[in-house]
Amino acid sequence: MIQKQIFNPPKSISDLFLGSYFNLDDVPKINRHPILKKIIDHINQRINHFFQHQISTLKFLIDQQKLIDSSSTRSSPIVIDIEIDSNQKIQEEQQEKVLTQESELIQLAQYQHPTQEQLNCPYCVCKKSNQTVLKSLALRCAVCKNYFHSSCLRIEKPKKVFVCPECILIGIDPLHELKESILDPVIFQSVEGRANQFTQKFQMKKGIPSEQLIELRSIKIDGQYEDISWPDLGDLQLNGKKIQEFRPLANNSCLKKRKDEKLMLNIELGQVNLLTIRESNGTPEMKAYRINQGIPYMLGIFQVKVYKLSEFIKKVKMDQSCLLGIEQSKKFIQLSILQNQFDEVTMESIKVSLDCVYDLNQIQTPARGNICEHIQCFSLENLVTMMKNVTPRKWKCPICKQMILGLQVDAYQMCILTIIKHLQAECLILQGEVENPELRELLKQQETTLPDSTRSNNNRVIQLEQISQRILKISNQVVAEPKNKYKPPPPLPEPKPIKKIGESFSDAILID
Ligand SMILES: [Zn+2]
Ligand SMILES: [Zn+2]
Ligand SMILES: [Zn+2]
Ligand SMILES: [Zn+2]
Repeated sequence: MIQKQIFNPPKSISDLFLGSYFNLDDVPKINRHPILKKIIDHINQRINHFFQHQISTLKFLIDQQKLIDSSSTRSSPIVIDIEIDSNQKIQEEQQEKVLTQESELIQLAQYQHPTQEQLNCPYCVCKKSNQTVLKSLALRCAVCKNYFHSSCLRIEKPKKVFVCPECILIGIDPLHELKESILDPVIFQSVEGRANQFTQKFQMKKGIPSEQLIELRSIKIDGQYEDISWPDLGDLQLNGKKIQEFRPLANNSCLKKRKDEKLMLNIELGQVNLLTIRESNGTPEMKAYRINQGIPYMLGIFQVKVYKLSEFIKKVKMDQSCLLGIEQSKKFIQLSILQNQFDEVTMESIKVSLDCVYDLNQIQTPARGNICEHIQCFSLENLVTMMKNVTPRKWKCPICKQMILGLQVDAYQMCILTIIKHLQAECLILQGEVENPELRELLKQQETTLPDSTRSNNNRVIQLEQISQRILKISNQVVAEPKNKYKPPPPLPEPKPIKKIGESFSDAILID
C-alpha cells in the first residue's frame, strides 16, 4: 500500500488529502482483523488531526493549484447563476404568484392540521418513560412527521428543521445502514438528576449475513442530541460481563465533548441477552471531571449493513429514493427563490458553484443531505471518502452544517454538469429553466437519455415540504395538548390565515 502511494504521486491537493488516509477496503483480511483495524483507525485519526492543523496551508496550496489550473484549462469556476427577476419582487405580484401556486404548494407542503391525537404526541419520549410533561410546544419531525413535546426533549429554542431522536438514532451513520431492529429505541432514565441504572432483555431472532453487524447506539436527550453519547461515568454489561467502561472528560480537557462511538455487540442467535447500563456516582475526587447524571438516554440495538466506500457511492447513485428528479429539482429552485423574496432578501441572483467545497474541483455526483435546504451541492464522492476515514463519524453538511441522515442526488444539476463539462460556460437559470437556448437544447437532449423516473420521479422530498410550509406560513410547532383528563379538550387550533403575506410570522400557533 505504501509503495503504491510512492509510485503514484498525488496529482492534486485533494489527491494528496484523500490519498493520505489508509484505506483498507481492498485488503479484506486486514479489514476484518479487529486489532489491526483499530490501529489503522487510530493512524487515520492522527492523519485527520494533522490535516486539521494544516488548514491554512492547505487552503493556500489549493488557491495556488486553482491559479495554475485556471491559467491552463479554464478561466473561472463554473457556476449556475440563478437569476431572480427583479419585476417579481413587487409585493402584489408575489401575492398573486402564491395565490396561483397555492394549491400546488399545499400539495407540496403535505401538511395536514394535527389531530388532537397527534397533539398528544403519542410517539414522544414521555410515553416511554416516567417523565411528566410541562406546558410545551409540539414539534413536528421533518423525517417521520410525528409530533414531540419540546419540553420532553429539553429543547428550548427549536431549530429551523426539527428531527426527532429516534430518526437520528436510526439514521446517524448512512454507511451503517439499518436492516433490522433487534431492540426498538427505548428510553432509560431513573430519577431526574440521579444516577441511572437500566436493564433490558433482548434476543436476536434471525441469523445475520456476514457483512452485517449488531450495533448498540445511544443518544443523550439533552436538547442538543445529534451524536452518539454514553453516560459520562459508569459501565455497560452484557450478560453480566463488563464490555465497556465510560470515563468522564476532565474539566480542563480541550475537547468540547467526549467522542463517543456506536458499540458492536457479539451475541448468539436465539439466546436471551441481558444488557445493563450503569451510571456511577462520582467520588469527591472526581470534582475535576465533567459528570452529568440522570439525563435520559435513548438506546437501540440494530442489525446494520456495513458498506464499502465504492459500494456505498454506487448504492446512493442507483437508489431511486435518494434521487431528486429533474422536475422536483426545478420546483426546489423555484421555491427557494420564492422564499427568498418573502424573506425580503434582496438578491439579484443565487450563484451555485459546480465546484465541490471540499477540493474545489468540479463536482462528480452532485448531492446534499436530505434535510439541507440549499441549492448548492457537494461531491458525493468527496463527502463519503471524508466520512469513511474518521471515527466517530459525524455526518454534517459542509455547506449548512446540518446533520446528514440520508443523501440526495440532484438529477438536474447532474445533467447540467454533464453538458457544460467541456464548455467553459456559466449557466444562467431563470424561473428554474436554463436561459441560454443552446444550452437548454443540449440539456433537453441530455434529459431524454435518462430513464423516465429520473425526470418525473415523485419521491417525498423533505425540502419541498419545509419550504412550501414556510411560504404558506405554516409552522411546524403548535401548542401541545395539556395532560389533563378532567377539563374538556380545548378547541383545535385554527390554521393561520394564509393570504395576509405582509404579517410577521409567529413561531407557534396559539390556542388560547
Ligand atoms: Zn490538536
Ligand atoms: Zn412528551
Ligand atoms: Zn422522526
Ligand atoms: Zn446542507
